[in-house]
Amino acid sequence: MSLAHGRPYLAIPGPSTMPDRVLAAMHRAAPNIYEGELHAMVASIWTDLKAVARTAQHVALYIGNGHAAWEAANANLFSRGDAALVLATGNFGIGWANSARAVGVDVTVLDFGKSSPVDLGQLEQALRADAAHRLKAVLLTHVDTASSIRNDVAAVRAVLDAVGHPALLAVDCIASLGCDEYRMDAWGVDVTVAASQKGLMVPPGLGFVWYSDKALERCKGSNLRTPYWDWTPRAFGTEFWQYFCGTAPTHHLFGLRESLNMIAEEGLENVWARHEVLAGAVWAAFDAWAMGNPAIGLNVADPAFRGRSVTAARFGAPHATRLRQWTEHKAGVTLGIGLGMAASDDPAYHGFLRVAHMGHVNAHMTLGALAVMEAGLVALDIPHGPGALAAAARVVGQGAR
Ligand SMILES: *Cc1c(COP(=O)(O)O)cnc(C)c1O
Repeated sequence: MSLAHGRPYLAIPGPSTMPDRVLAAMHRAAPNIYEGELHAMVASIWTDLKAVARTAQHVALYIGNGHAAWEAANANLFSRGDAALVLATGNFGIGWANSARAVGVDVTVLDFGKSSPVDLGQLEQALRADAAHRLKAVLLTHVDTASSIRNDVAAVRAVLDAVGHPALLAVDCIASLGCDEYRMDAWGVDVTVAASQKGLMVPPGLGFVWYSDKALERCKGSNLRTPYWDWTPRAFGTEFWQYFCGTAPTHHLFGLRESLNMIAEEGLENVWARHEVLAGAVWAAFDAWAMGNPAIGLNVADPAFRGRSVTAARFGAPHATRLRQWTEHKAGVTLGIGLGMAASDDPAYHGFLRVAHMGHVNAHMTLGALAVMEAGLVALDIPHGPGALAAAARVVGQGAR
């Protein structure tokens, strides 16, 4: 028998759940792109997009996904042959490194593995070794969606400052923006990259690049820049079409306007706090399950370095895949695959999964997903410790006091 016939819950780390309000805002006739309502609405979007990244500087919007936003950042930051240092803590730093290398950037990767944050000592050594200051930028992933490692962005900035290295700091916040605390200007970030389909709760299709005055100035001569990717007219255009280098992504913009309204109504700091509590509930459940089965565990040991939007975990092969299939087909909850932990043809692949708690998610959704996982553990006879749901409920009860 299946108990999946109700509203399904997609608990994968992007695309995330789309709020009904966002979908309703998109469900409308095509607007005039030459004048009127759309122009006024877009002007308000720039202001609120800067607010979610906590910056007073510049933002460029692209029709594209996260990979497009990486390419947008690369095209504006670099000339062919420029050097970049990538700090990899899972899958996505490697992805950004590959996209930069493919267009001729001289990329060095410092790889910290799949379950550790950036080692600041190694970063300091690498910066000191670059006495000629060839490195033009350091590329960092805030929350790696595969490993669920969260890096300390301000600490990376502090190392650059302490060494006196002039490299720009560029941060991939695709999995974290609108979920984890992030302060672009206060933390000294020069370039921030994000996309619409994660914490911003809009369907995939928009990529964003926020950039500092310093980045604007330092990158004026970048020769990887082509007309479509140039971030200048997208922020400083004098005609409406220049913001999008062509036709505006009209319906995504209506959706984005509504999602930014929702974030503003809740308050960005409350959004961060909600993610903090829900993440804590997920971690508490795993700690309890692990007490009865050493194969179960969270990927990141230190809570300070865990993303608040996604949790990567292991159940021992083949139980993660069995559990994912059970929760989806028997109970309507789709969990994320374990990404990058083992090759998909390696039996070990079936030991990993991820639980998303990203964007439009509340206590009943996260507690519901955990209860469904517990039901699956029972149904599939996967050994696990008791008390996971009570522990998760306690975190929620205390967090929402
Ligand atoms: C999702 C994600 C990406 C890739 O975004 P796409 O929209 O799939 O291209 C890159 N980096 C991080 C941290 C992500 O979470």
